[in-house]
Amino acid sequence: MSGPDAQYAAFLAQGRLRLQRCGGCERHVFYPRVLCPHCGSDDLAWVDASGRGTVYATTVVRRRPEEGGAHNLCLVDLEEGVRMASRVEGIAPEAVTIGMAVSARIAQQEGDAIVVFDPS
Ligand SMILES: [Zn+2]
Repeated sequence: MSGPDAQYAAFLAQGRLRLQRCGGCERHVFYPRVLCPHCGSDDLAWVDASGRGTVYATTVVRRRPEEGGAHNLCLVDLEEGVRMASRVEGIAPEAVTIGMAVSARIAQQEGDAIVVFDPS
């Protein structure tokens, strides 16, 4: 039996963004854990995430063009009530604003499946 972080990564590799949901307090849990951080229950089940969220915080990371140029880093609040660190693509990094509606997409980066967001 693999740990919850490995299960999360395996779902992403299958193209599915899944979160844990606690059977004790009915809150969603992210990053994946063994025990609910809200109530301590170990009754955590995997559920599909809607992928819908809003930008909570955003910043522009500036790099030289040969290192990939400027890109966006953000915190996104999913409608399930969890916060993810990610980036918004498909828009200029400085055009990402707090409160912007975004949708999750699973992208490949250096052989790993990761979650990025697009403007909704
Ligand atoms: Zn709980």
